[in-house]
Order: sequence, then C-alpha cells, then structure tokens
Amino acid sequence: METKLTVAISLGSLVLAAIGGLIVRFHLGRRRADRVWAAARYPKLKDVGTVKHLTILPLIDRYTARDDLVGEPGVSYLVRADDTTILFDVGFNRRGEHPSPLLRNMQALGVTLEEVDYIVISHLHLDHVGGMEYQRRRTFALSKEPLNLEGMTAFVPVPMTHSTARVEVVEGPRVIAPGVASLGPIPRQLFFFGWTPEQSLAVNVEGRGIVLITGCGHSTIQRIVERAEMLFDEPIYGIVGGLHYPVTASRGVKFGLPVQRILGTGKWPWTPINREDVEAGIACLQRRHPQLVALSPHDSCDWSIEAFRQAFAGAYQDVLVGEEINVVAD
Ligand SMILES: [Zn+2]
Ligand SMILES: [Zn+2]
Repeated sequence: METKLTVAISLGSLVLAAIGGLIVRFHLGRRRADRVWAAARYPKLKDVGTVKHLTILPLIDRYTARDDLVGEPGVSYLVRADDTTILFDVGFNRRGEHPSPLLRNMQALGVTLEEVDYIVISHLHLDHVGGMEYQRRRTFALSKEPLNLEGMTAFVPVPMTHSTARVEVVEGPRVIAPGVASLGPIPRQLFFFGWTPEQSLAVNVEGRGIVLITGCGHSTIQRIVERAEMLFDEPIYGIVGGLHYPVTASRGVKFGLPVQRILGTGKWPWTPINREDVEAGIACLQRRHPQLVALSPHDSCDWSIEAFRQAFAGAYQDVLVGEEINVVAD
C-alpha cells in the first residue's frame, strides 16, 4: 500500500513538474515572440514584380468539391502565378498511405510533380509536412514512399532537411519568383508545440494588389497583414488559407480532447480561441476591404467559416479541394 502511495506521489510530482515546465516555456516563449516581432523591421520589398494571373488550387484541405477527391485536416495548395508553379505545403497523410491523399488528388485533378517549380513549407507542423513522423524528423514528405525531388528547391521557415530536394531556409522576407514573395517567418509560441515560426506567401497581382496565402495562420491575421503592409505599397486584395479559428469544434479530436482548440492556439490551454478572437480577426481584415477572402476549413470550425462568409459576403469563397480560386489582373 505504502509503495503504491509513493509511486502515485512520484508520478503526480512528475506530471506537475512537466506542466510547470510547459507553463514557464510558454510564458518565456510568448515574450520572446513579441520581442522578435517588435525588432523585425524590414524595408519595402523592391523588384517583386507582378503577375497577371494567379490560380490557387487546393489539393488538400478538409472539404472537397467532388466525391472522388480526398479531404483531410491538412493543407496543400497548388499556386500558379503566371509561369511559376508552387506547391504550398504537402498535406497531412494522417494514415501514412502510399499513394497519399495528396498524390491521389493530384492524379484526379491532372496535376503532375513535373509542373511544380518550387515547394514552400509554411511551418513545421504535421498537417503541412505530410505527417507526425516527418515533423519529428524535421523534413517533409508528399507520400509514405519517398519521391525523388532532385532538382526541386523547397523554401522552409526553420532548419529542415530532405533526402533529395534542395532545402533553403527563409530567414526573412524575400522574393521567390516574379510577383511572388515570402513574408518571412513570423514566430508564435504554442503551449504544447512550442516555438513555431510560420511563413505566408504574398502574390502581387497587377492592378489588384497582394493576395496572401497562409498555412495554419498561427502568426495571427493581425501580424500577417501588418507584415504585408510593411513590405508592400500595394493594398491587400485577398487572403486564402488557414487562420486557426477552431471555436465551437475542433477538426482533430484525440483521446476525446479537441486538440486543435488546445494545441495550436498561442493562448493558454484553459482560455481557448473564442468568438471575440474571430471577430477581431474579421475586423482587422475588414479595415483593408479585401475583395477575396477564403478561410481554410482544416483548422477553422464551421461556425468561424460562417462568420467569415457573412462578414465578407460577395468577397467570400470556399476553400474546396479541386476548386480553383482565380485572381486576374485588372
Ligand atoms: Zn494546419
Ligand atoms: Zn500548425
């Protein structure tokens, strides 16, 4: 009996110590993220250029436009900006399949790897790099079986490796291709996942303005928009992608816990993302009068999507696997 009690007390102490460690790490990390943000002052991005036609084709996201396509709570978008084609994130592949949902959707949509010029990884999270195994190994994978990506460059926001692709760490805002730039990593401290730098893409469409493409949106819409305004004179025309608003439900439920509401919020676990956060995000965007808003359902709940749809009315478009989002020069 006494032994059992001692074991219970020891285990309890360990759990308390672990929670205490997470609390201290979170507190310090948030302050560090604020310091990094305050210190990050960049000049305007010169010579970005413009594109005449931007197409964003979701290859992986939670909802699909057709029954023969696979939906999952991850992100992979094919971004076509005039002559440049970018694979933005590589999906989740939750079951570790080969061919992965990404490859199956690509085939169903007639997309081949040969047409992809660059890969851009928004951040090192399982639902964007092809699964937990690859997040742990600090790499990315389009499918369970390795694909030969020789000759391909992948732009990543933190040090990562790949067995065949050339990997380039993006340290700050930079041009990636004509009319296409990375906003540079914006870090956020997450309670369980820890330090999370995330980059978004900005595409400058002639006569329209900047279209932002986001992954999970952990950096927050406020900081993403502010960074874009620091780098460009053009107005923000639109935003497509994840902003992490799991308010009334979580896409990922593990052990009965709404993990998205707890894991990726950048807030304390006992004060999850709420309606006021979504309203603040909407208000921040409304002040820019965007003509295109498309919220990824992979990390936002249906309530948040509905709130965005109502707030942006005619400017709102659904993110559906297989359905192109187009922006054409004015
Ligand atoms: Zn995500
Ligand atoms: Zn994430």
